[in-house]
Amino acid sequence: MSVDSLDISLHSSAGRVESTDVDVVVVGAGFAGMYMLHRLREMGYSVQVFEAGTDVGGTWYWNRYPGARCDVESLEYSYSFDEKLQQEWEWTERYSSQPEILSYANHVADRFDLRRDIRFETRVESAAFDEDENAWFVRTSDKALTVGRFFVMATGCLSSATTPDIKGKDEFSGTMAHTGRWPKEGLDLKGKRVGVIGTGSSGVQAIPVIAAQCDELIVFQRTPQYTVPARNAGLDDDRQNEIKSRYADFRAANFAMPQALGSEVSKYNDSIHDVSEEERRERLQEAWDLGGTLFLASFTDVLLDESANVHAQDFVREKISEIVSDPETASKLTPEHIIGCKRLVIDTDYFETFNRPNVRLVDVGNEPIQRITESGLSTKSEDFEFDVLVFATGFDAMTGSILRVDITGRAGTTIQEKWSAGPRTYLGLTVPGFPNMFTVSGPGSPSVLTNMIISIEQHVEWISDCISWLDEHQYSTIEAKTEAEQAWVDHVNAKAERTLFPSCNSWYLGANVPGKTRVFMPLLGFPGYVRRCDQVAENNYEGFVLQ
Ligand code: FAD
Ligand code: NAP
Repeated sequence: MSVDSLDISLHSSAGRVESTDVDVVVVGAGFAGMYMLHRLREMGYSVQVFEAGTDVGGTWYWNRYPGARCDVESLEYSYSFDEKLQQEWEWTERYSSQPEILSYANHVADRFDLRRDIRFETRVESAAFDEDENAWFVRTSDKALTVGRFFVMATGCLSSATTPDIKGKDEFSGTMAHTGRWPKEGLDLKGKRVGVIGTGSSGVQAIPVIAAQCDELIVFQRTPQYTVPARNAGLDDDRQNEIKSRYADFRAANFAMPQALGSEVSKYNDSIHDVSEEERRERLQEAWDLGGTLFLASFTDVLLDESANVHAQDFVREKISEIVSDPETASKLTPEHIIGCKRLVIDTDYFETFNRPNVRLVDVGNEPIQRITESGLSTKSEDFEFDVLVFATGFDAMTGSILRVDITGRAGTTIQEKWSAGPRTYLGLTVPGFPNMFTVSGPGSPSVLTNMIISIEQHVEWISDCISWLDEHQYSTIEAKTEAEQAWVDHVNAKAERTLFPSCNSWYLGANVPGKTRVFMPLLGFPGYVRRCDQVAENNYEGFVLQ
């Protein structure tokens, strides 16, 4: 395709075409797009970022639901690339709330003057690689055309919100909201009857806070969830100052961890079978009391061996029966699947919330929602009424936001065709047939199994160093080889198959989206991944065709 043919199609649909040339087009202004812009600009490149939202922050811009906060500790869930930035910013809680993380994103945007190169309220609709020009032609919702030598999808792993296809949605006369698209102006739930569908991380965070705000809450649960207490608290000044006094070392220690986090918490290196029953309970209790996702790291084999996993399952099941007063509700809340094969949730007073008189739990696993009605929803045996319906129903994870853009690579092949049987990448960064295109924390990279800000930094640095190396060596294109992609896909699968991750219907596998091919998408193990990326670069980008 040439510029002219693209112009013609744009003219015919919109009348106006504006064309801009930059070195790099970046899609998305979450933490990935923001750092990509900053680093490339520092290296002397011209960059145009497009963002569908009205401001920066990505996940933390869209997910404004009550109770939204991170599950990685604040002192870790923050950029590490700039020493002054990490010294000057003060976190107030162990786990930051969404408003605080969004303020941080805004602070970063102001501090590095990022907004001048971000076009907000502008969605990238299509991108096509022109083989004559060796450039990407990117078309946006404002009908502009932007041409870039490189194209970076920093579109997020959990950014395509999904709402189940339940009959009657248009009939509901109350207010509907998705946690991942929460109204900016907020929702006043005081005095309201609220229904929440979904009990993943978003639902589990939102439910206790909504219950405290509204008159009546009905929770529609399809699958009970393992969740452990977050033990969120105000962040002690002494702790914050102490970490800041050795931030570089603290970051380096976390960088060497399998999930790029928790170096000071993960202190055990033995099997659950190697300790006495008493010690097993003590250690799980210690992790429960400490709070946080590292509960699963109490022993090395909880996510590897079902006979080890069952001990952790039993421990949480016992806690549920102790916390929830009504035995029938406790039983409905009790999960049976492998703990950790769906992302472990951390909560504040989740199970306790079901002891409140204004909260009711409805099991829609055995009796699914049949339709949404004008005043609520119906299952086979009961009608429910409420004023507000909250969908905490998750995302088309990892591939959703990439596949929502019409991306055409060499010979007219689209990314939708290329990934029709599931995503395939080399290093989770590149795709054969799509030269000079990169994905940040894409499928095949550790992304969602890590502290994502740290994974994002590693990706951004690898991509920008790669672009600079190509220019230095006067190459105009880089493209993954098909055999490198195949070897990478095999590697990602082999890693997953050694664990219990593939054993249940999680979004890691795409199982939450009807019709999506079931493939375990993220790569397990951050340090090995980093070593491999570094090795590829050191070996003059092995596995790639350079032209
Ligand atoms: P995002 O923040 O998702 O940003 C992508 C941006 O791209 C969005 O703003 C979107 O509008 C834009 N975009 C997408 N498509 C287009 C398009 N076609 N055109 C224009 N713009 C587009 N991770 C952790 O490590 N720890 C946590 O505690 C944690 N908590 C989370 C809590 C919630 C509620 C959710 C949903 C995710 C959480 N995550 C967490 C994962 C989180 O997504 C990442 O940590 C991180 O914020 C991702 O940044 P990103 O820039 O890659 O993507
Ligand atoms: P999710 O984990 O995919 O949970 C979606 C929920 O909706 C599940 O309980 C699911 O039930 C339910 N659901 C979907 N369709 C349904 C239907 N038709 N009827 C009834 N129930 C239905 O999504 P999420 O909670 O938004 O979390 C996604 C990810 O975002 C998390 O795993 C995490 O990585 C990130 N996140 C992190 C935090 C944090 O603590 N920092 C907070 C929010 C999100 P089934 O289980 O039966 O499918």
